[in-house]
Amino acid sequence: MPPPYAPPDNFFPLTMSIIVQKFGGTSVADSKKILAAARKAIRAKMDGHQVVTVVSAMGQNTDVLIDLAKQITDNPPPREMDMLLATGEQVSVALMAMAIHSLGHEAISLTGAQIGIITDSTHTKARIHSISTDRIHKYLDRGNIVIAAGFQGIDDAFNITTLGRGGSDTTAVALAAVLGAVSCEIYTDVDGVYTTDPRIMPEARRVAQISYDEMLELASAGAAVMHNRSIEFAKNFSVPVHVRSSFSDVPGTMIVHEPEAPNMAVCGAALSKDEARVTIRGVPDHPGTAHAIFSRIAAKNIPIDMIVQSEGAQGMADMSFSVSRDDLGHIMQVMEEAKKELNAEAVTFDDDVAKVSVVGLGMATQTGVAGAMFTALAEKGINIEMITTSEIKISVLVAREHAVEALRTVHGAFQLSVPPRDCMKHGEGSQAAPMKLDTPTLLRRLEKVAQLERLEKLIIDEIALDETQAMITFVGLADIPGLAAQTFDELAEAGIVVDMIVQSIGRENRADISVTVKRAELEKSLAVAKEIAKSLSCPMPTYAAKVAKLSVFGTGIKSHSGVASRMFRALSESRINLELISTSEVRINVVVDGACGARALAALKKEFADSLVSGNGE
Ligand code: ADP
Ligand code: ASP
Ligand code: MG
Repeated sequence: MPPPYAPPDNFFPLTMSIIVQKFGGTSVADSKKILAAARKAIRAKMDGHQVVTVVSAMGQNTDVLIDLAKQITDNPPPREMDMLLATGEQVSVALMAMAIHSLGHEAISLTGAQIGIITDSTHTKARIHSISTDRIHKYLDRGNIVIAAGFQGIDDAFNITTLGRGGSDTTAVALAAVLGAVSCEIYTDVDGVYTTDPRIMPEARRVAQISYDEMLELASAGAAVMHNRSIEFAKNFSVPVHVRSSFSDVPGTMIVHEPEAPNMAVCGAALSKDEARVTIRGVPDHPGTAHAIFSRIAAKNIPIDMIVQSEGAQGMADMSFSVSRDDLGHIMQVMEEAKKELNAEAVTFDDDVAKVSVVGLGMATQTGVAGAMFTALAEKGINIEMITTSEIKISVLVAREHAVEALRTVHGAFQLSVPPRDCMKHGEGSQAAPMKLDTPTLLRRLEKVAQLERLEKLIIDEIALDETQAMITFVGLADIPGLAAQTFDELAEAGIVVDMIVQSIGRENRADISVTVKRAELEKSLAVAKEIAKSLSCPMPTYAAKVAKLSVFGTGIKSHSGVASRMFRALSESRINLELISTSEVRINVVVDGACGARALAALKKEFADSLVSGNGE
């Protein structure tokens, strides 16, 4: 048992509350803007707070530095890249501190290393292990505004590291967590979180409030307004995050545990334009195949998404997944090795695709959401090339030329511009009001920080087994717009509740779609499925009367790129074959043969024993 947590002597949340403010690149793009940001920090101090300000590199400076490196070499060593990129934030913290001095207040700038932000050694996407707060507290207590460089840290061997593009958000929320800050304000060039990127769709609506889980999914689906790992921190340590404009006093958006409107199926849509789809064809359909492929990818720390497995010819399987186009070169090398090892038929890719996702906590309890999305796309003649769903997210791949139209179509289909009627709000009125945490909550948070051996650790909340499902697979559907829509419309019309949906491109431009349904509804579903297949002139659907669905959910599931691979290894070592896979930020689902459920659960619990917590933490 660890000793009971004792708050530090200088912890007086009731009398002296700490606020963390973060200013993004555009908000410190020139000297005038730096002075404006400095005034915001001073205003918070004059209101009686201790203020920590996290700053990003000025304007597009990080891009300029990356470009410089690329002019020298195509393949810069990651360590040197971090050394270079960290200079961007060092420039801004110094200027910000000078600005505050010039306005008559005390301030001190600190780099990540000077603060003591200790990370692992994964250069260019390092994870935070620990943050020492002594130095910051000391300066705050002396009346300084502390200016912290965003996006950077130092590893055990004193190498400078960076946290990944957009990582200053993560620095800010992490500091708010460990300092027991009452609030974390993210000042940026938009006045809050919108239902989709307002620069792509001016009709997008600013939301007053959004839940951590929804923001996490949106962030990793392409909503660049927040770095996804910052939301993992916020969720883990219950840090209320207030996203607002650097340039206006609009109230902005609160990111908290609860959604804006609990009954709304979809709260936002996101576009990730530069995606690629990779397919490995003709791999053995037996335990160990997924592991052989994904362990190689995990070893290289390449994040992948939308993993789909489909039946190939003669007992073989095809596997596809999506990956950021930037990582394609890297991943194709890995896949060529996997192809040799597995004696696969071919590895192909399509780098002309984009991912459109819709997200909403409400979809977990509502039917017909996927069908509505597919129908809207079909009506515009947009073909869906791949589908995966999780409890609170549906993602589709479409040709890049249709990306923006597809986003606009789904945004319109779910009427995201219209404010929900049953809003849940913090504070009064329809605008976000900053939420303040009470002292017991802050103490609990600090206790949690004190007990964690690593801050950005993988946390598995639960591993669940669902033995109530059956699976139906439509094989060889013609790959033309509208087929997914028709299939789901007809299933919905028959009142059939579909859980997981996975669509992949099969052979000769034919698509396979697998769905899971309740076992009790299998017969009815099959009858409908056969009718659908007949009307589409495709082969009769196949089915498995009993499948088991295993879900691993928690925090860091996707950003720790090895989780899927560990899951596949554990199942493969227990000789359990995978039927379906779907991934999201907060969970990975796999479907296996119904007879293997209990064994699969035991294997996963063993594999993740060190990350599994009971309950939800706070
Ligand atoms: P900063 O430099 O302040 O960190 P970023 O460029 O990282 O700013 O993030 C802000 C940008 O995020 C906005 O300019 C906007 O184009 C984009 N964005 C994408 N999706 C959304 C969304 N759902 N809501 C608000 N902004 C979004
Ligand atoms: N300057 C870094 C970037 O451009 C970090 C950040 O802005 O959050 O990615
Ligand atoms: Mg950003």
